[in-house]
Amino acid sequence: MVEGVEVPTEHWIGGERVSSADAFVDVSPIDEMPIAEVARGGAPEVDAAVRAARRASEAWGSTPPKRRAEVLHRIADLVQERVPELAAVETRDNGSLLRSMRSSVMPRVARNFRFFADQLLELGNREMAYEGFSERLTWDPSGVTGVITPWNAPLMLATWRLAPALAAGNAVILKPPEWAPLTASMLADIARGAGLPDGALNVVQGIGEEAGAALVAHPGVDRVAFTGSAATGRLVAAAAGANLTPASLELGGKSPFVAFADADLDAVVKQAVNQYDSAGQVCLAGTRLIVEASVYDEVLDRLGGAAAALRQGDPRQDATDLGPQITREHFDRVDGFVRRAKADGARAVFGGAPNEELGGLHYRPTLFVEAPEGSEILTQEVFGPVLTAQPFTGEDEAVALANSTEYGLAAIVYTGDPGRAERVSRRLVAGTVWVNCFFVRDLAAPFGGARHSGIGREGGPWSFDFYADVKNVCTAPW
Ligand code: NAD
Repeated sequence: MVEGVEVPTEHWIGGERVSSADAFVDVSPIDEMPIAEVARGGAPEVDAAVRAARRASEAWGSTPPKRRAEVLHRIADLVQERVPELAAVETRDNGSLLRSMRSSVMPRVARNFRFFADQLLELGNREMAYEGFSERLTWDPSGVTGVITPWNAPLMLATWRLAPALAAGNAVILKPPEWAPLTASMLADIARGAGLPDGALNVVQGIGEEAGAALVAHPGVDRVAFTGSAATGRLVAAAAGANLTPASLELGGKSPFVAFADADLDAVVKQAVNQYDSAGQVCLAGTRLIVEASVYDEVLDRLGGAAAALRQGDPRQDATDLGPQITREHFDRVDGFVRRAKADGARAVFGGAPNEELGGLHYRPTLFVEAPEGSEILTQEVFGPVLTAQPFTGEDEAVALANSTEYGLAAIVYTGDPGRAERVSRRLVAGTVWVNCFFVRDLAAPFGGARHSGIGREGGPWSFDFYADVKNVCTAPW
């Protein structure tokens, strides 16, 4: 039992709970206490899941779209019914704010299923004509999809990939993150309760280098959907490439937050402090503040005040703004970045250390200035509550600083000038540019990263282009 909820800890393969000889211990970031022993799968469990998925994929893939959409809507209904339980377990497992889990994240899980169910029905077939020949385009199921997800938003990110994969008629094998594996197991029960056929969704629990690597390397997998770090993404791309398995990679970021002096500075400060949300464990976070020199001191000063007002503590309490880092290992990694930034000559305007008063895995919101050009803290993803600030003069310098990392997941621009917004956003290298806003996520819009932040785009029809085998039947005139 976790937070009073019964949570299965075995694998879910072919509609059955399957255990493994080995287990791994799942620890809560809230108090660093063990909360579950979870089955530790590897190549044999992955192989069994691929075989179960292959068997199920034929029937599920040939199920009429209308019926597939009904099942996905039913999954959404059951997710909605269980939002309080899913939220409580996710918070205990990964330390995310309970109030966000309840109000936005778990409802978004349900929306992932509803959106792609509706999108499937809109997709239909497409007819084209070419020099008298007719062309009929169909989005056929591609077979078996492997989905691998990170710990920072486990269920939301898993369902953003597996909902379109299932909608497209594929059977799915999900390898959840070993640092937050529990809600995936609950989803398996929900999917079965909604009438998803056995084997259409399988969950193989385990460690990335074991179960994850086995899944990606399995020749019976037709699509790999990976969300995680760029370093793991490289390994995943190489392993999938060896089998010529198409892989959609959503990777890390070091996104710029560019604020011009003509922007609404109240809004800039409010949005800048939001970049500490989830204690900085957000791929999209605009962690590099790039602020026009004439308002640089004012923005930093006001940001310091806003950051000081953030309440750190137990993520289950409504008053808390920032919870803990996910694990001791990750906490130490964040602290390592901070220590090296100081050694490199950067200066912490605030924060720059663990929160000793609270102890545990709480790290203080941190802002670095004067980091040397090209230094680690300006170029590498920390994935903790650590921002940097750099002043600029003129659009060219703003764009040059913004584009100065190997990442390209997102960018944020604040300005009061629509023409400038247009010019600057065109020049930014990013999958998504938010102008005077942040984190607006339309499921119908393409999402993904440029450069080392990913390969491919998903969302709306782009998801179906990836998970389906798009086919053109070109017929001569009869
Ligand atoms: P990670 O790369 O360490 O792990 C991600 C997943 O990959 C886990 O399930 C892990 O078990 C698995 N894995 C590890 N090694 C593997 C291997 N050799 N083969 C196959 N699978 C393997 O990432 P993380 O620390 O869990 O998550 C944080 C990272 O995810 C950050 O870089 C963050 O920016 C990124 N992220 C990106 C997005 C996005 O949409 N672009 C969203 C959330 C998080």
